[in-house]
Amino acid sequence: MMTCSSLHTLIATDLDGTLLDHSNYSSDQAQPALSRCLSLGIPVIFNTSKTRIESAQIRSQLNINDPYIVENGSAIIIPKAWMARLSCDTSALLQTANEWVLPLGLSRSHIVSQLKRLKAERGFRFTGFSDMRLSELVSHTGLSAGDAELANQREYSEPLLWQDSKAALTIFKNCLEKLGLRLLKGGRFYHVLGQTDKGQALNWLKDLYQNQHGSPTTVIALGDSHNDIDMMQAADIAIWVRSPAHPVPDAGYHRLSFTTRAQGPAGWNEAITSLIGSY
Ligand SMILES: [Mg+2]
Repeated sequence: MMTCSSLHTLIATDLDGTLLDHSNYSSDQAQPALSRCLSLGIPVIFNTSKTRIESAQIRSQLNINDPYIVENGSAIIIPKAWMARLSCDTSALLQTANEWVLPLGLSRSHIVSQLKRLKAERGFRFTGFSDMRLSELVSHTGLSAGDAELANQREYSEPLLWQDSKAALTIFKNCLEKLGLRLLKGGRFYHVLGQTDKGQALNWLKDLYQNQHGSPTTVIALGDSHNDIDMMQAADIAIWVRSPAHPVPDAGYHRLSFTTRAQGPAGWNEAITSLIGSY
């Protein structure tokens, strides 16, 4: 694999099945490359279908303090300490105690009410997170009960299990589009969200970072599923991390795209070690 030596590099990474193992959600095998990124000061931007609270917990476990993108591009979260180094108009941002939040999607309550209406009117068969008991969430996600509760604290999207035909899925997708909603396929679930995606959110963050440094930034993105395609298209280098659960998605043309040999976090480690080896 090639190496790159730009001073300004951002790593944008999916979590489930990419930085985290598909089955046990561990990032241990990616730790050598992750530690190297931390010591070199290369930002590691989570770009995930996970919620804000789940992502924040994983960031703190891994000692990562960089911005992150949650619920498939539905919101960008920027730590205040990070933002203090950037010049950015904060008028469109919301703030919490320690972070700035840019919502790009729609509220979950709006999305869930539209889904309920579609189900009643058209008879589609699916089960959303908001319809599941905790025990069902645990069995469908493979998470512990505590972590499944965090996964259900969503703000901008609704994951669902599709239990209807392929033909009905196409009709469902069209109905969602007419309502200003999108359907994305993740590793385990379909996700219904506003008109946003991981690529739009990453581009916003890249522009912010680039404006600050006044020089081009190389974005390396890592993902494993269909919902990562927009992020890959927004990246300079696209790394498809091999999955034990499904083939690498057909993502169309990208001028610099690789697929790892190893799966999940071991693949993450392989790719990043190779790319930043010369830094
Ligand atoms: Mg994934």
